[in-house]
This record gives sequence, structure tokens and C-alpha cells, in this order.
Amino acid sequence: MSSEQPPKRPERAVKRAASGALTAAAAPAAPHVASALAASSPWAYSPAPESKELALIRPRYGLFIDGQERAPVSGEVVVTYNPATEEPLAEVAKGGAEDADRAITAADRAHRKVWSKMEPRERAKYLYRISRIMQERSREFAVTETLDSGKPIRESRDVDVPLAAAHFWYYAGWADKLQYAVPGRRPESHGVVGQVIPWNFPLLMLAWKIAPALAAGNTVVLKPASTTPLTALLFAEVCQQADLPPGVVNIVTGPGEMGMAIATDPRVAKVAFTGSTSVGIKIAQGIAGQGKALTLELGGKAANIVFEDAALDQAVEGVINGIFFNQGEVCCAGSRLLVQESIAEEFIARLKERMTTLRVGDPMDKNTDVGAINSRAQMETIGELVASGVAEGAKLWQPECVLPTRGWFYKPTLFTNVAQSHRIAREEIFGPVLSTITFRTVDEAIEKANNTAYGLSAGIWTEKGSRILQVAAQLKAGVVWANTFNRFDPTAPFGGYKESGYGREGGLQGLSAYLRSS
Ligand code: NDP
Repeated sequence: MSSEQPPKRPERAVKRAASGALTAAAAPAAPHVASALAASSPWAYSPAPESKELALIRPRYGLFIDGQERAPVSGEVVVTYNPATEEPLAEVAKGGAEDADRAITAADRAHRKVWSKMEPRERAKYLYRISRIMQERSREFAVTETLDSGKPIRESRDVDVPLAAAHFWYYAGWADKLQYAVPGRRPESHGVVGQVIPWNFPLLMLAWKIAPALAAGNTVVLKPASTTPLTALLFAEVCQQADLPPGVVNIVTGPGEMGMAIATDPRVAKVAFTGSTSVGIKIAQGIAGQGKALTLELGGKAANIVFEDAALDQAVEGVINGIFFNQGEVCCAGSRLLVQESIAEEFIARLKERMTTLRVGDPMDKNTDVGAINSRAQMETIGELVASGVAEGAKLWQPECVLPTRGWFYKPTLFTNVAQSHRIAREEIFGPVLSTITFRTVDEAIEKANNTAYGLSAGIWTEKGSRILQVAAQLKAGVVWANTFNRFDPTAPFGGYKESGYGREGGLQGLSAYLRSS
């Protein structure tokens, strides 16, 4: 897929011969030739598409209940699309409350009769096996994830899939050491866990939820998002391949109401949800008074704060990564740039220059930086919020950029002149849109960073270690990155407070959420 390139870059000294083979120029071009090329032609990359054949997507998928694929009671299906082409990928079962009931029954039985009775070290072996199979099938997972979600193959290949496998590996290590997770108390599993996950990191969110749940001895009923069910269904195959006892993991596809049916079922003892704040609130209300354990990982509006003493080019890279990773469809995206006034002009100039080099287009191309937006509905949300920014007086800038003619793509977007009252400074856009606000003093930076209903993440860019400690301690955010952004690790807890939810996933804290201790 084509993407816009800045006109001033020199052409690479690599040309495609008539045969199609790549031939490297033996010696650098003479300066006058190079400058003539620089003036006349854009930097041209050859396309580098990953093979679609690596994903063996079936035409139709059922529900994964009690270790087997089953048809939904309704007999209905929904179609999942490739957001980069708008072409259908597969038909997926449209489950309902009766299917949720069947899955919970299977999970309940598996918990009482098999999984909770099993020696912890035996449970660990299953988790290690799952992790190994995911690594063995990582290309298949990465391609399937990219086709179904629109995220660049480079990200699914290098981030989502390896991190998902790493979560199973990490929690496998905990499975026979639970007594050390809650010292002095007796660790016990909750029983059946209901999990509802979103579309921005479909496989990774599954791993964040299923790995600690199984390690702690629970069984699972998981509902993936309707627009991205395929890697969860591929994971169901992995469970079969690993000989996981039937009913330990159940994956049911269906609409949001099915997620609510799972969460509110009295046999479900613990609920974990990642998604929008509005649905998180509904779930909390739906299960109120039932005595269930609940973790909510909701939205965010992170401040990425750049101080005048920061290494500017490094900070530019961090800001780019903070907002354009996964098209900005990230709960912890650094969607508010707070830059110190003394460097604002220079920083914005460097940022714009870097934005012109972003390659937007075919997610299956290994050169692509910004892939497709996950759904038409999300495109509309982004468009509506960007229009509100312009209407409220912020200044919009986008690099020249040729977007593919089919599929849901959005140009990397930078807003300056943003007031804190603007919707683009307050609401989660969940797209490649950065809102810039300036500050003069450290206190002002902290005050502005905390001026949000959310509290999920933040970034600090400065050369001074003491300033990092001073500022981080005052930021009301669950995760604070210093001189980096969007770093994830299975051993590190992740989560927020205020409207970003409560509870932690990852690390020991993420394991504790799946344990009752007496
Ligand atoms: P939702 O919160 O609606 O979807 C997340 C998950 O919840 C999906 O599996 C969805 O199912 C399910 N769900 C929907 N309604 C209910 C319900 N009533 N009870 C139980 N589960 C339900 O997010 P959207 O897809 O609508 O995205 C809207 C906005 O939410 C985005 O623009 C973004 O701002 C934010 N968001 C935040 C995420 C995060 O990681 N914090 C992730 C995704 C979105 P189904 O797909 O079938 O509707």
C-alpha cells in the first residue's frame, strides 16, 4: 500500500532491476547526482508485505465450550472484517445468554472436578506448554492479529505476540509458588472467572487475563470484542493442542450483552474487564451487591511531559511512540503532549518533521508505522472529536499523506493551541491524534498533567533524575514512564485509578487479583 513520503529525502542507493531483483549501487552516488535526486524524487521503499498465507483463517468459527467447538444456540453468525481492506475475513458465532450459561457450567465443573484439584506444578506445565505453542505459532498469530485488527505487522510480530507468550511463561512460574504471593495466608482460587476484553490488543489482553487466572487455579469464560475475535479463537486451538482439560478455558463470541450475562451470572466469582469507562461502569453497577471480585482497566488521557532539559530527539521519538503506536488506539497512549514553553517552538518543529516520515498504510507491510483504524465506528469517533478540536479553536496540523483508497485509515494529527477545556484535551480519542499544551514551571506541568478524569499513565522527559522522582511522585497515574513510553513487561503491574478503573494486571499484583486468601 502506498504511503506519503517527504519530498526532501534522497533516494536510496538501491534500485529494482527489470527482473525484479534488488541491486545495490556499488558506490555512493556522486554529490551532484545525490543532490539532483534529493531535489527530484521522493524516498522510495519497496513494499515488504508479510504473507497472508501464514494465517489459516477458516470461513466459519463456533464457540469454544468445554474443550470443543460448538454452534451457538441462536444459529446466528457475525462477520469479522479486515479493517485495512473492508473485506470479510470470517463468520463467527453470535453467542447469547444461553451460550454464556453453557460455558459457565463447563468452567464451573472443570474448576471443581479438575483444575482446582490438580497439583499446582501440573497446572504450571500446561501454562508453559501454551506459551511454547504460541511461540511456535507466532507468525500465524501475528498475521491473524494484523488482518483482524489493522495494527502494523511489525507491532503484532514484535510486541503483541511475544508479550502474550511471555505472560503465560511468567505466570507458569508462579503457579506452584502461590503461597509466596500472599505470605502468611492460604491462597485459594476464586473459581470461575468472567473476562471481557477489547479490540485494541486482542491477543495480549487475552494473555493478561487468562495467564494469571489459570496460574491461580481458576477456570475462565472469556468474551473477545466483536470486531477482533480471531486470535482468541486461534488461542482456543492452542488450548486443544496443549491438551488443556476441557472447560478450563472457554471462549465465547457474541455482543456486549453477552459480556454482561457472563459478568452477572452468580457462578462467576471474579470479573475482569478492559474497555471503555462507560461499559466498565455498567459492569460495576450490574454486579453490585453480588460480592464478586472486580478489576476494571478503562480509558486514559495520559500526559507526556517534555521538560526543557530533555534530550529532544529522544523525546520526539518517545512522543511519536506514545501516540502513534497501534494508531493511538491504546488506553495508556500519550495523547496529551505537555511541553515546556521555552522549547515548545523547536520541539513542535522537530515533531512535525518526524511525523512527515511516518508511513501510513497497509498493516501487512513490514515498513508501515501507522496501520488501519479498527472499525468504521472508531473512525467516526476520531473524526467527530477532531472536528470538535477545530471548532473549539485548536490548530490542526497533518503531514501530507496519501491514504489507501480502501480501508479505515486516519492521518497522524497534531493539535497546537489547545486549551485544557477543549474536548480533545479531556476525552479519550483512541486514534492517532496528539493534543499539545505548554507549561512554564514544574508545578504547572504537574497540575496540568493531573487535570483529567483519568489516571492510567504518564511520561516524563528530562535529564535530571531528581526531577523524575519529584514529578513522578506527584502524578496521579498508575504507570509513569521516565525517558521512555509504552514499555510493557509481564513482571510489571499495570492499571489506573479515577476513571481509568481499579485493580492491577501483570506482576505479582496481577496474580493476587485472581486469588482469595484466608
Ligand atoms: P467497549 O467498552 O464497548 O468494548 C469493550 C468490550 O466490552 C468488548 O468486548 C465489548 O463487546 C464489551 N461490551 C460492550 N458492551 C458491553 C456491556 N454492556 N456489558 C459487557 N460487555 C460489553 O468499547 P468500544 O468498542 O465501544 O470502544 C469505545 C471507546 O472505548 C473507544 O473509543 C475507547 O475510547 C474506549 N476503549 C478503551 C479501551 C481500553 O483499553 N481501555 C479498549 C477499547 C475501547 P463488543 O465488542 O461485542 O461490543
